[in-house]
Amino acid sequence: MATEAPGNYESRKRLLVVDDHEDNVEVLRARLEARGYEVKGANDGQAALDVIEHWMPDLILLDVMMPKMDGLEVVRRVKANESLPFIPVIMQTALDSTERMVAGFEAGADDYVTKPINFAELEARVKSLLRIKALQEALAEREKELSDMNDMLLHMSLTDGLTGIDNRRALEQRLHEMFEHSYRLHEPISCVMCDIDHFKKVNDTYGHQVGDEVLKEFAGILKAEAREIDRVGRYGGEEFLLLLPGTVLDSAVTFAERLRQSVEEHKFSYDGGTLRRTMSCGVATWPHPRIADAEAMLRAADDALYVAKELGRNRVVRFDSAEFNAHTESEPEADATKESAAHHFTPGHPRPEVESGAAEGSA
Ligand code: GH3
Ligand code: MG
Ligand code: MG
Repeated sequence: MATEAPGNYESRKRLLVVDDHEDNVEVLRARLEARGYEVKGANDGQAALDVIEHWMPDLILLDVMMPKMDGLEVVRRVKANESLPFIPVIMQTALDSTERMVAGFEAGADDYVTKPINFAELEARVKSLLRIKALQEALAEREKELSDMNDMLLHMSLTDGLTGIDNRRALEQRLHEMFEHSYRLHEPISCVMCDIDHFKKVNDTYGHQVGDEVLKEFAGILKAEAREIDRVGRYGGEEFLLLLPGTVLDSAVTFAERLRQSVEEHKFSYDGGTLRRTMSCGVATWPHPRIADAEAMLRAADDALYVAKELGRNRVVRFDSAEFNAHTESEPEADATKESAAHHFTPGHPRPEVESGAAEGSA
């Protein structure tokens, strides 16, 4: 082992030899270089720290007894510096100084050799520590890979594979977070449920692939129209949901109307031509006397969307508007929010005042 020639895996590893006696540095340098290591010397603590910062040795061979900054202080600083990787430190101590050897370990040294140095022993200890460092680095790399993989899986679990926007799971998470936030701050929040009209015909006429392209372009339109703070996601097949924090019902309806127009005017391209589609939207806002929680708001938007479809599509319907109520009175099963009255609000926690214009939406 100790007679392995340079060129093995330890070769060209960088060793820093720190000793206030130049002669000691030179002796070790000559022997270690002969073993294939790249060696630099330093004659005092500060010089050693400078070399460590700039040259990043793989291992440090450190004399304890030095004037000005001693070896203990150097090792303390190296081990405390979080910007440095793990660099093993071998302390050199006098044979009779158990106390100093103990102090060296306490300061953070990884191993020690006694002076005068037995070179075979030193070389064995250097190799052993370099092996540990290599294992440590492999482990850190593996951890990084796992962590990156984890991030990627988390991203995938929240992203719609076709359009690249939030998927339903992400939307449901965000809906609850945003709703809680709005509730705490007594700020309004709106949601717009959109559904492409007669989308099945796109598939039937042009094929499923063109259908996919239309869905992607459609997602792009919604994304482009939404503000930075809004969430846009694909709730289901050709159904998309927008969450608009800090937005009162009137503004949400205006926004949905603008979206509806953008879609109506858009020419979806496919190889060989363009096609047009319209969409229908349902809009609901909290606070509202009939909307107690996030689920109820979502259901209300969905109910409004249902009415928009019933009324002939390519339109925006607001929950609790005259046309909504006229329609749902004749078809009561369309309004699923009625039984979910305000039991979301905790006792002793007064229900926030309904803001004028933000609720009680009338047509
Ligand atoms: P309506 O106006 O009532 O919404 O009619 P519609 O045809 O849009 O609605 P319907 O629910 O009858 O059909 C939705 C179609 O959307 C059927 C389904 O095959 C298609 N679809 C759902 N997801 C995808 C997808 O990822 N890619 C493609 N190409 N089509 C999809
Ligand atoms: Mg549809
Ligand atoms: Mg649908």
